[in-house]
Amino acid sequence: MEVFKFGGASVKDASSVRNVGAILKRFLGDKLIVVVSAMAKSTNKLEEIVEARKNQDFTLYNQFIKELYSFHFQIMGELFQNKDSSIYVETETIFKDLQDRFYQPFPENYSFEYDQVVSLGEVISSKIVAAYLTEIGISSAWVDARQLVRTDNQFQEGNLDWEKTEELIQSKLPPVFLKKDVLVTQGFVGQTPEGFTTTLGREGSDYSAAIFAYCLNAKKVTIWKDVPGMLNADPKYFEDTIKLDQISYKEAIELSYYGASVIHPKTIKPLQNKGIPLFIKSFIQPDEQGTVIQESTVNDNLIPSFIVKKDQVLFSIRPVDFSFIAEESLSDIFSKLSRYHAKINLMQNSALSFSLLMDRKKADPLQIKKILGDSYKIWYNDDLELVTIRHYDQQTIDLVTTDKTIILEQKTRQTIRIVLK
Ligand code: ASP
Ligand code: MG
Repeated sequence: MEVFKFGGASVKDASSVRNVGAILKRFLGDKLIVVVSAMAKSTNKLEEIVEARKNQDFTLYNQFIKELYSFHFQIMGELFQNKDSSIYVETETIFKDLQDRFYQPFPENYSFEYDQVVSLGEVISSKIVAAYLTEIGISSAWVDARQLVRTDNQFQEGNLDWEKTEELIQSKLPPVFLKKDVLVTQGFVGQTPEGFTTTLGREGSDYSAAIFAYCLNAKKVTIWKDVPGMLNADPKYFEDTIKLDQISYKEAIELSYYGASVIHPKTIKPLQNKGIPLFIKSFIQPDEQGTVIQESTVNDNLIPSFIVKKDQVLFSIRPVDFSFIAEESLSDIFSKLSRYHAKINLMQNSALSFSLLMDRKKADPLQIKKILGDSYKIWYNDDLELVTIRHYDQQTIDLVTTDKTIILEQKTRQTIRIVLK
């Protein structure tokens, strides 16, 4: 048994769905769980739909639903000649319910409402893919991930109940596999014990693939992407990127911690615990080798990796009473920032001040000043970038620092992090 995950870009239109079918035909007879994301940018559109309803903006609400409806029906029209096919009725019903939702009072818990609506992207997408696979003669069934993935009540960021999930998946899926080869399900979604839908955090479908693989002891997981594998740098910022053929779980966790965005950070740990290898492959060139993430660390330092975070702001914080930055002020600063859900990308302290680097988008300097209050004097420097190099040497440092001013630098044996202006 293997798990495949197809993200939004791999099901973005009718020809992409056909391509998924073509890939699956290469594995005819294999037992597969196919985890799919919402089509293209549907998740963003669904977020806008929730916003519009919150703002009681009926015109926008309607307009967004119409756009999402046409987008999916266009794809279905190209995939299914038989207009009586049940997929039309099922999708129609989902949209009708969504439309009617406008007149219900908006729940107090925004995140609850978000999950009930935003999860629909995966539901629709998986239904279309499953119907298409059946249409082209692949032995397949649609399964509802909400009945299998159990979470707590933390809407928008559901925490997994591993024991219950394992029990559900292990009892419900093997009987379906006796009858069908390919089980198509949704990424990103789960359910509370009370039966309400939850989501696992944006881009969480990779994590779903790992959950299914873990619970069924899959032989491997393959994430099909529009890139040839895991690259050592983002092609947006670097010209000569290199594909990493093989890296360890540990290295993959490090890279995603520093901000490499190829796979969702929560994905690796469950796979590592069971020693299930993770392949990242191109759905455009499925014959190419891709990247494999597994236990062995022997190849980790062959190629330096670069991770760039733009639009950073560096705050320097000093207690106004000139007390040294010691444990008490640090814990005060941290607790205030954590209540603001601030994410710190890097920090450093000196005798008199404490510096921390954050994404400018999530850290408005005026807000930060207000949160920390009058007991601190705060400066900031924005328009910075943070470059992390794993397995660096002088040459790679020179490559990223030429013509730039180094504001701050932190080094460990394998990693250097440089804040640049
Ligand atoms: N559709 C969800 C998102 O866009 C989950 C995913 O794609 O992994 O965040
Ligand atoms: Mg995605």
